Amino acid sequence: MAWKTLDEMDLAGKVVLVRVDINVPVENGVVTDATRIEKIVPTIRDILKKGGKPVLLAHFGRPKGKVVPEMSLQPLVPALEAALGVPVAFAADCIGAPAKKAVAALAEGQVLLLENTRFHTGEEKNDAELAAAMAALGEVYVNDAFSAAHRAHSSTEGVAHILPSAAGRLMEAELKALEAALGNPMRPVTAVVGGAKVSTKLDLLGNLVAKVDHLVIGGGMANTFLVAQGINVGKSLAEHDMADTAREILEKARNAGCMIHLPVDVVVAREFKAGAENEVVAADACPADAMILDAGPQAVAEICKVFEASKTLIWNGPLGAFEIAPFDTATNAAAAKAAELTRAGALISVAGGGDTVAALNKAGAAADFSYISTAGGAFLEWMEGKELPGVAALTQ
Ligand code: ADP
Ligand code: MG
Repeated sequence: MAWKTLDEMDLAGKVVLVRVDINVPVENGVVTDATRIEKIVPTIRDILKKGGKPVLLAHFGRPKGKVVPEMSLQPLVPALEAALGVPVAFAADCIGAPAKKAVAALAEGQVLLLENTRFHTGEEKNDAELAAAMAALGEVYVNDAFSAAHRAHSSTEGVAHILPSAAGRLMEAELKALEAALGNPMRPVTAVVGGAKVSTKLDLLGNLVAKVDHLVIGGGMANTFLVAQGINVGKSLAEHDMADTAREILEKARNAGCMIHLPVDVVVAREFKAGAENEVVAADACPADAMILDAGPQAVAEICKVFEASKTLIWNGPLGAFEIAPFDTATNAAAAKAAELTRAGALISVAGGGDTVAALNKAGAAADFSYISTAGGAFLEWMEGKELPGVAALTQ
């Protein structure tokens, strides 16, 4: 790896600026889901163990460069103290006199949280002066916010160029999992791409066909590929103007030796609602007044076979309209298969994406996956083969 971890850093007695993502849901001043806070605990604990003084940089909401009291990070202090088990001090600004004073007062074994970085207009512009003012507070920079790494902001990118930098434990885990899935994976590698639309995942499909051995296309996206092959999909969600693009992707896959798997059978219904009357038909036999809402049993069997023959799986996008039963059937079955193979040590499985994580949780399969990325946009951009500025800055 081209970036340093906490293990390679001398932190004893040093002020360590740590960029974290603690953009948690808050209702009436109380944190309702502390998952993101819990995830940064290993990093903070390790910094403390090495004698460093953690000073947290974070954003909260979208204040757009203005001080918005409702978007203060201060209400997160009790939740941070509960998760970390140490006192957490707070400074009313992430730079300048208030921050400097709080850093000077910081005792060993304590943590300092700085106010919302996005209260400054410079943050989202990656303003160099703001980055310098942040860097002036500490001696080492640690980035533990993979989920914010697709944005070049002062606190995610700028500071990394000024101070000696390292990846935090969460960033390290995420990068290692992604590297194992697409960087230098055990082959064969299978990607599952599902979800609603081809148009939102063009870069993703284009990158994957060049890198993976099998590409399973599901969800509404598969309908567009069926259309591209001259198949009538009735009232299904499909992007007819994307047919040419879909054909180009198929061609690119052929040239790259990537095998594409489209559903051979599908579940169709006349209504988009839970429990709607439905039937299984061949993929080219969708009635004109019906819509495809899930992959069929033969398609699922084929997907499971592909999984069995694979060593690595990377998954983004559900195979059907998983929010409404029974159109979650294919997604649930494929997820269960991936979970089973992973448990048996036969498969490395990595998944990410807002709806994908929800679908895998609903299927009860998420815990068995090798890695579930909760990074959303950053995970997708990484899967698209794009360089993430926050990560690139660590590799200087
Ligand atoms: P992610 O958030 O994981 O990247 P997407 O947002 O791309 O995933 O796709 C998820 C959405 O795709 C879900 O709302 C799901 O209902 C929808 N979807 C999947 N298959 C179909 C289909 N056949 N018809 C209509 N919608 C579908
Ligand atoms: Mg989505």
